[in-house]
Amino acid sequence: EGEIPLSKNLNELDQKHFIHPTSSIQQQQEHGPAYIFEKGDGIYLTDNKGETYIDAMSSLWNVNLGHGRSELAEVAKEQMEKLAFSSAFSTFSHKPAILLAEKIASIAPKGLNAVFFTSGGSESNDTAFKLARHYWKLKGKPERRKIISRKKAYHGVAAASTSATGIPQFWDMAGTFMPDFVHAETPYEKGTTEAIESVRQVIEQEGPETITAFIAEPVQGAGGVIIPPDDYFQEVRKLCDEYGILFIADEIITGFGRTGKMFGMEHWNVQPDLMTFAKGVTSGYIPFGGVVVSDEIHDMMKERSTGTLFHGFTYSGHPTASAVALKNIDILENENLAANSQKMGKRLLQGFERIKKDTNMVGDVRTLGLLGAVELVKDPSTNERFPAEWKVAGKVINALYDRGVICRPVTFDSTDIICFSPPLIINEEQIDTMVEKVYDAVLAVE
Ligand code: PLP
Repeated sequence: EGEIPLSKNLNELDQKHFIHPTSSIQQQQEHGPAYIFEKGDGIYLTDNKGETYIDAMSSLWNVNLGHGRSELAEVAKEQMEKLAFSSAFSTFSHKPAILLAEKIASIAPKGLNAVFFTSGGSESNDTAFKLARHYWKLKGKPERRKIISRKKAYHGVAAASTSATGIPQFWDMAGTFMPDFVHAETPYEKGTTEAIESVRQVIEQEGPETITAFIAEPVQGAGGVIIPPDDYFQEVRKLCDEYGILFIADEIITGFGRTGKMFGMEHWNVQPDLMTFAKGVTSGYIPFGGVVVSDEIHDMMKERSTGTLFHGFTYSGHPTASAVALKNIDILENENLAANSQKMGKRLLQGFERIKKDTNMVGDVRTLGLLGAVELVKDPSTNERFPAEWKVAGKVINALYDRGVICRPVTFDSTDIICFSPPLIINEEQIDTMVEKVYDAVLAVE
């Protein structure tokens, strides 16, 4: 028997049976999958043609420990053999979830000590909205139902998180699901004063007594790696306190060392009332997420809840995922990966600054830890953008693929932003190699 032409087969099977998440069906039907990855090792991914790429996005901003960590696989195997799954509903419990809840409470911002587990980011944000409303309901203010989010926010694709997402393209498919979501301005091309004024206006317009919570990513990821001015979140916190609004930090990308601190809000010493996490908590080795709530919210639940809390996912506190998360956090701490993220992020920024200086189409460059962006503009002196139809970001991304680097473009609102979010284990030499390739790719398109 001859060899099955496996790659051809896989292409056809993919086109026939696999509806890809966040993808173009048209493109899939025309070309099939561009890359079929087979192996990961450290910061590298290898496809089924044997080509190796730098995974400069940690895949979906999540593979913080890098690929191929056998310690995580071993822990998963051990837990699966012992107790792969059992329920955490009602009065059932198990050791991995209990120990993980304690661990997360110990690293979360002060005063946030109780965790509700989920299977991912969207579920975490939907859960945070429900817990926030539940808090107000228990407090005798069920009319506090609205959520303030921001433009360019990405909070996921479940019902409520789609509505919280502030990138309208995500509403095109099926519309938003909930009427109670309002989007304020974000500090992109706007300073703190203007962005805060917009939040205040939304609160005043909607009526403070109707608002449950404000949600924000410490650094907006999918919106284009938007790093806020230093005073922005402190001002947001003050505003929330002034109107008695809960503050939800969506740390789904920024958590677990991504920005050079364990959690993003630590950069500005801002305490959220609820914090959502996913992605980096298991470095993507197994789906997982959760919401940490303040003692005030937890106490309110303890004091005033009467019946059952009718909210729970089958996989809330999944034993195997919990065991992997515990080990993942252990490694993050032992290898000082938040500190490495901070150090490598600075080196990455220096590299970006050199590219900006030596080329003619780079505008703003920024990093916070290992979350970074390079903005491509027609005129760096005025920041005038390229016409969208030139698809400049797409061209640079393709040039990067050709040079063995996988990055992600953000082209909403006619921007041409290239995002970077490499594994936190990356070293100086690998940063320099990546920067050289970006340099080359920009020159090739320029
Ligand atoms: N929140 C943020 C900030 C995200 O970046 C994402 C995913 O990219 C989500 C929420 C949704 O998480 P998930 O895709 O795990 O549902």
